Amino acid sequence: MKEQSKLIRSQAKRSFNREHSVPLYLTSSFIFDDAEQGRAIFADEEEGNIYSRYSNPNTTEFITKVCELEGAEDGLAFSSGMAAVFASFAGLLRSGDHIIACRSVFGSTHQLLTQLFPRWGITSTYVDASKPDEWEAAIRPETKMIFLETPSNPGLELVDLEWLGGFKKKYPHIILNVDNCFATPYLQKPIQYGIDLVSHSATKYMDGQGRVLGGVVVGRKELIKELMFFIRHTGPAMSAFNAWIFSKSLETLPLRMDRHCSNALKVAEVLEQHPEVETARYPFLPSHPQYELAKKQMKQGGGIVTFVIKGGFERAKRFLDALKMILITSNLGDSRSIATHPASTTHSKLSEQEREQLGIRSGSIRISVGLEDIVDILEDINQALIHSK
Ligand SMILES: *Cc1c(COP(=O)(O)O)cnc(C)c1O
Repeated sequence: MKEQSKLIRSQAKRSFNREHSVPLYLTSSFIFDDAEQGRAIFADEEEGNIYSRYSNPNTTEFITKVCELEGAEDGLAFSSGMAAVFASFAGLLRSGDHIIACRSVFGSTHQLLTQLFPRWGITSTYVDASKPDEWEAAIRPETKMIFLETPSNPGLELVDLEWLGGFKKKYPHIILNVDNCFATPYLQKPIQYGIDLVSHSATKYMDGQGRVLGGVVVGRKELIKELMFFIRHTGPAMSAFNAWIFSKSLETLPLRMDRHCSNALKVAEVLEQHPEVETARYPFLPSHPQYELAKKQMKQGGGIVTFVIKGGFERAKRFLDALKMILITSNLGDSRSIATHPASTTHSKLSEQEREQLGIRSGSIRISVGLEDIVDILEDINQALIHSK
């Protein structure tokens, strides 16, 4: 079956009730037919659910769909994107290990790497996404993992996944871990380039409607097995309810992403030409410095557009206040378009120089382009550009 059909047809096994749509399995534990079956399932001799902290039919269905999309061998579902990212480090690394990460990681991932992991003796080095030479120079004997996001948030810089996959030949012991949240597995499939683990905040495009939190990690079977031990005994499991929501939402992921991307490209094209805009950035704009790479590794450019408004910090805030339909909130990947001003919110704790390193200027604005009619999205952005002068 083709990808879109598999997303719809991969379902938990039908029960004796002959339901058409998969029900919600709200149960903490699962019964054994007899004591012997309990023994066999605990001993891994027989497959079966034991307890919803380990597995549940709804989370299994969700994981199956993500594995099919990413081309992964196996996976695990988590209560949030950060629980997934955290586990992908903590479940595999130990004291003394070293991580190389691209500088432009998600805010909470930055706190993990710089504040929490050093407490447990796990250190990290940041490298610039756009400077491949720095990556190899940062490798030490104790380097166990390379972690990155592409496209980055909110700078929309890319890392060449094929080039990164090439590291595997020279450094087979280093785990390559990619947060694929911004692109989604519909647009970009890191595993095909030899990446070992792919993590996601499912909260974003996988839900796509800003309702529930969740995360997922998929990848090589032996790594997922090691992570399974970690989540069985630390408990960051996804709830059955959230898995049920995500699994239903994945049925429409390709349809939604097509529209997010076509709307975002139009927004980027209009912004780039607008007299009140200094620059606009979007992976599928020919002016993007990595346009060729974007076309090589992404099916389309994604749903996020970043632009720099003329007039800096205060003008950017006036622009947000002038928007009528588009709301100011820190989520992304929602059916509703969202605007954020990184310099005054998500990246306000950084110095101006640190922000510059991430491609964030005081007038940078990130738009998560939603699924409204493109006419209304453009009209709102246009009127806010004029009224914020
Ligand atoms: C939102 C996000 C996360 C964290 O996910 P939560 O579901 O909010 O915990 C991690 N990485 C990226 C790139 C994100 O956008």
